[in-house]
Amino acid sequence: MSDKPEKFIDENGLRLDGRRVDEIRPMKMEIGVLSRADGSCYLEWGKNKVLAAVYGPRELHPRRLQKADSVLIRYRYNMAAFSVEDRIRPGPSRRSIEISKVSREAFEPVVLTHLYPGAVIDVFAEVLQADAGTRTAAINAACVALADAGIPMKGLVSACAVGKVDGQLVLDLNKPEDNYGDADIPMAMTSDGEITLVQMDGDVTPEEFKKAIEMCKEGCRQIMEIQKETLRSKFTKLEDVDISDD
Ligand code: ADP
Repeated sequence: MSDKPEKFIDENGLRLDGRRVDEIRPMKMEIGVLSRADGSCYLEWGKNKVLAAVYGPRELHPRRLQKADSVLIRYRYNMAAFSVEDRIRPGPSRRSIEISKVSREAFEPVVLTHLYPGAVIDVFAEVLQADAGTRTAAINAACVALADAGIPMKGLVSACAVGKVDGQLVLDLNKPEDNYGDADIPMAMTSDGEITLVQMDGDVTPEEFKKAIEMCKEGCRQIMEIQKETLRSKFTKLEDVDISDD
């Protein structure tokens, strides 16, 4: 692991990777990348690489797990063994189980769960390369994969972290900021601005926390535009298909 940098923000207000404090890392997404999944999305965000796959709605077995009045949503966040510098031990860990739970709760509120009683929707997020912010990256990709699968939703959910370095709040932490910063606050929100996930590592003042929410809202607005553009690209691709008889 690299050493703690002396300064995270230079005299011009730029961060170690050249971003302003309120700027997110470059993000690109591709939809429908897996032919066997009902919906899928590949996301690159900075150096993070995440693949999300959705299966369902389909009948849930064993039947005793079925919910009478809604669909069951299962979400598995997983880091590939090769996704970080040191190999990660395969299989669930305390960290991945916790992330899977809070991330599912972050996007579940927008899914119209009552439409598929007794069924299950399985969502898998595989982190192929990790570089800080993987839980939020996985939520962003999973929501696009859900939409790709045709799951009825009230809207999208977008996620981003705000942190604190050199006494200043910064949007979308990079790896050194995540490792050595004073705070890391991952959040997720719906298109209506309803917050569905807040976690906090480190300390901020109540005023800083309010500002962090505002910064995060702006970051999520930008991410939602990229998510929508990715979804639109699916239909542009369909328009390009020649369906004439000759
Ligand atoms: P997030 O990826 O959501 O920011 P953390 O704050 O827990 O989650 O982790 C920050 C970063 O630390 C990860 O993105 C990853 O690059 C690295 N990391 C997390 N867990 C491990 C691990 N078990 N081994 C090596 N690196 C890890």
